[in-house]
Amino acid sequence: MENKPVEDQLKTIAEIFRGNVVFTSSFGIEDQAITHMIFDNNLPIEVATLDTGRLFPETYKAFNETYKKYQKQIIVYFPDHDAAEKMVTEKGPFSFYYSRENRLECCRIRKLVPLNRALKGKECWISGIRASQSDNRSQMDWIEWDEDKKLFKFYPVFNWSFEDVEKFIKENNVPYNILHDRGFVSIGCEPCTRAVEKGEDFRSGRWWWEEGGVKECGLHLK
Ligand code: SF4
Repeated sequence: MENKPVEDQLKTIAEIFRGNVVFTSSFGIEDQAITHMIFDNNLPIEVATLDTGRLFPETYKAFNETYKKYQKQIIVYFPDHDAAEKMVTEKGPFSFYYSRENRLECCRIRKLVPLNRALKGKECWISGIRASQSDNRSQMDWIEWDEDKKLFKFYPVFNWSFEDVEKFIKENNVPYNILHDRGFVSIGCEPCTRAVEKGEDFRSGRWWWEEGGVKECGLHLK
């Protein structure tokens, strides 16, 4: 597959793992490029999203624009309400600012557990990771076997630059999160994401108050 265009790679993946492939989108610009390729080619790949309950209004707008443009199903996974209610009742709505432990707890409840539901029974998980997004991500490969989750992971735009993604979005008139025009490069939950200056690390706008450590919620930890 390595030398094929990305859309052909996606077709091959959809054929090999027919009915057992899921793509998880957070409506970031990379994800929107992949969503376009899947929906535009009618590929039998499930498109899913994790609604943490703490997303930006602009993210929901991007979701809605995508829904309106393609008229295709995007499966939404919410956090378990018992766990989320317990955490917020006991620790308040901004517990993640007070310790890394709390932050990881929140990411686990709002992202990791719902992700595991989205991946249940799947053989291949597609995501919009690019190698140049962070050191952690540059150590990954464009297709990998995940021994913990017992599935393949495939990153269609792994070798694309940010400019490649922007060009694709423009050329194909793909809806995108307007926050990208305001200095947000990696967009997650509203309280945990901020805009970055030109030249700053791609992931530096995420959990910026934490000293050092890997800027990942755990979904893609290597
Ligand atoms: Fe919670 Fe922030 Fe993680 Fe979102 S990014 S799940 S609000 S800690």
